[in-house]
Amino acid sequence: MLARWRKPFLILAVAAFCGLAATASMASETGAVKAAEDGHIALAARVAGDSERTRLVVDLNDSVEMDVFVLAEPPRVVIDLPAVEFTFPDETGKTGRGLISAFRYGSFLPGRARIVIDVAGPVAVDKAFVLPAIEGQPARMVLDLVKTDRTSFLAAQADSLERMRIRDAHFARKGDRGERPKETGDSKLPLVVIDPGHGGIDGGATGKNGTMEKAVVLEFAKVLKAKLADTGRFRVLLTREDDVFVSLADRVKTAREAGAKLFVSIHADSLTNRKFRGATVYTLSEKASDAVAHALAEKENRSDTLAGLVWPKVTNEVNDILAELTQRETNTFSTVFARSLVGEFRSAIKLVKNPHRSAGFLVLRAPDVPSILIELGYLSNVHDETMLTSEDWRERTANAVIEAIRSFFARQVAQRP
Ligand SMILES: [Zn+2]
Repeated sequence: MLARWRKPFLILAVAAFCGLAATASMASETGAVKAAEDGHIALAARVAGDSERTRLVVDLNDSVEMDVFVLAEPPRVVIDLPAVEFTFPDETGKTGRGLISAFRYGSFLPGRARIVIDVAGPVAVDKAFVLPAIEGQPARMVLDLVKTDRTSFLAAQADSLERMRIRDAHFARKGDRGERPKETGDSKLPLVVIDPGHGGIDGGATGKNGTMEKAVVLEFAKVLKAKLADTGRFRVLLTREDDVFVSLADRVKTAREAGAKLFVSIHADSLTNRKFRGATVYTLSEKASDAVAHALAEKENRSDTLAGLVWPKVTNEVNDILAELTQRETNTFSTVFARSLVGEFRSAIKLVKNPHRSAGFLVLRAPDVPSILIELGYLSNVHDETMLTSEDWRERTANAVIEAIRSFFARQVAQRP
């Protein structure tokens, strides 16, 4: 592969996209790197340096095109890559050094991966390049960050946003966002949207034994979807069916555009106090029911920031009386469903004290779709972690959710004039 030494801000997004195709075809033509045919693999990452200059090095099985951006509030550096499988040891990126405080990695959109680096303050990208693999040595992606002032940082961000805008318009034209998950069931049946939390670059909470929230909630959502479809009474749609990142706004949008009659977001939490156990059901409220609910909503709402998104949050400003009434009516339905779900859970699984709580979750803000969020349990607790990965627990929990969904819709039919 050719060495690609270049200033990061000269790399056009379009060049990165074309480069991806070139990388793939050259690798398969030469047949030099067997693994390259199976896709790019990131093998290890390390950080070196101090608070003036810090270097991130990523070892890869072969060269990739990198596209680097800086984002403010909070200060981050984003490296966009073609599809890469990350095989880093578990603790990689959890702590940093020098200007880098932590970093995350994972799939971002279909065919695209991303590394998001949290930085201590304003930084400038001094160098960004990829050294090709040579005999006995992996390819190396190198990023050098240096300290800078806030004015230069904001100017670099403006440039980043413009390049992202051009690139994303290009992706949108190519229809590169991948296929949306498909719903199952008769179109006359009411649609239930199940939303497995986090995914891709945002793994969510992590268990004591390494269980990841994004994986357990997806597994549970799939069981729930299959069982719900089996009842023959509902159409079911998942907001994601793979380990990909989906923004909070996109989850809400998917539910609204598909005409959902109920939205159920599935999560699992983690706390420093490992004693906490049990499930919680959350609904939307402007003022949190308690400090735990408030902290949790803040944590869940950070997902888009963690993934390096810059688009404004879902605000759904309630600016007229009619919209406010719709939202209020929807909240009433959400609360009815939450209470009935808590009732079903009581006889099936362990619940926290005061299991129905509320806070300002962005993902529950569809004004016209009753929406709730389930925290299945605490991955930080060893009992909960074991339970969340057990088939028996999944069955019991899914059955309880289905009972609550059945009675929610039965009640609506009964109330119809
Ligand atoms: Zn979560």
